[in-house]
Amino acid sequence: MTEKTRVVVLGGGYAGVMAANRLAGSRRAPAVEVTLVDPGPRFMERIRLHAFAAGTRTEPGVDWAEVLHPQVRHLQTRAVGIDSDHRTVALAHREPVHFDWLIYAAGSGEQSTPLLSVTSPTVARRTRDAIAGLPPGATVTIAGAGPTGVEVACAVAVSRPDLVITVVAPAGLANPLTAHPAVARRLHHLNVTVEDGRVDRASGAVTTAVGRRPAGQATIWTVGLAVARLAADSGLPVTDDGRLMVDATLTVPGHPRILGAGDAVAVQGGAGRHLRASCASALPMGAHAADTVLARLAGTTPDAIDIGYLLQCLDLGAGHGHVQAVHPDDAARPWAVAGRAGGWTKEQVCRKTIAWLAREARRPGSFTWPSGPAVSVD
Ligand SMILES: Cc1cc2nc3c(=O)[nH]c(=O)nc-3n(C[C@H](O)[C@H](O)[C@H](O)COP(=O)(O)OP(=O)(O)OC[C@H]3O[C@@H](n4cnc5c(N)ncnc54)[C@H](O)[C@@H]3O)c2cc1C
Repeated sequence: MTEKTRVVVLGGGYAGVMAANRLAGSRRAPAVEVTLVDPGPRFMERIRLHAFAAGTRTEPGVDWAEVLHPQVRHLQTRAVGIDSDHRTVALAHREPVHFDWLIYAAGSGEQSTPLLSVTSPTVARRTRDAIAGLPPGATVTIAGAGPTGVEVACAVAVSRPDLVITVVAPAGLANPLTAHPAVARRLHHLNVTVEDGRVDRASGAVTTAVGRRPAGQATIWTVGLAVARLAADSGLPVTDDGRLMVDATLTVPGHPRILGAGDAVAVQGGAGRHLRASCASALPMGAHAADTVLARLAGTTPDAIDIGYLLQCLDLGAGHGHVQAVHPDDAARPWAVAGRAGGWTKEQVCRKTIAWLAREARRPGSFTWPSGPAVSVD
């Protein structure tokens, strides 16, 4: 009997599920056994967590069976260590799993803060409860005016129009996506104030040109992302911010049997320079990590990643949105869709993410993605 090749995928987000599906159903390597390690009871649609946190939708997610290839074994637990020498992953409250190939796709979370946040179901639930418990007229500060900050502000303004909501960021709406006048108009329409200033990550106090004031009744932190220390603590090469280093084939330098994809990794060199933490990067990276494993199993040379962007989308609450067309390197093109048409387009994009995963489960290898900007891969 042929020995099965064991692939462990660590993290069942957009990157991990895409990778697991492509490998589990591949005709190119039928003797592959895929194990997905993820603590969630369901697949979590992270791109909708702002709406859950604000109370405008129930917990977003779908049953694993809807997005996962039936031959993927899902272990509902958390990985707590990676032993690259012995090729094992230590799990919380379970026996370790052995791997021939590991795909690290643990995603990202919020920076360490006692303030409210929206990046995981647990912290989003805490935010939801806090918002629901506020009395009318209470003040809510959103720290950060990037896409997540603006999406959270709009969602809270829709669910609780009786609250006084202020978005605070050093240069106001300076993010290339949120700086569009249509976004400012939508915030104004929802009575959300945007203020130039800084929010203290520990206390929630706000400093502006006119001075410092104590935290509002609720402060939601949406600035930056942080990754778990799992890769660093396991002795794998990481960047200063803890992301697992991978080369253009998504392989960890010096660890040819370990690959990475999604928010948790940093692609070294030109092929990864334009990539931002996003679902739009995680999906093609997951597919590519699987392709690299399949190429190595077949004894062929894996390709370098070639990931381009098409759109950047914002959910501006109550069916409104803003969708910006971008070049493959993520720089804005001169057109955007706003208002209800933008909201409709954004919703289709969110649904498409689940549809892509489900389709890859049914027809492994079917997912394709636009090419990236022309870069020299070093
Ligand atoms: C509110 C919000 C809105 C967003 N909107 C957009 C958007 O419109 N467009 C866009 O492109 N991006 C958006 N993003 C960003 C996007 O959600 C992430 O970039 C994307 O989810 C990254 O995918 P991933 O697979 O790398 O990680 P994730 O989707 O975060 O999945 C990682 C998985 O790994 C699991 N995990 C973590 N640690 C371990 C461990 N030790 N062991 C086992 N499993 C583990 C986690 O539980 C999780 O299920 C948004 C993010 C937020 C928070």
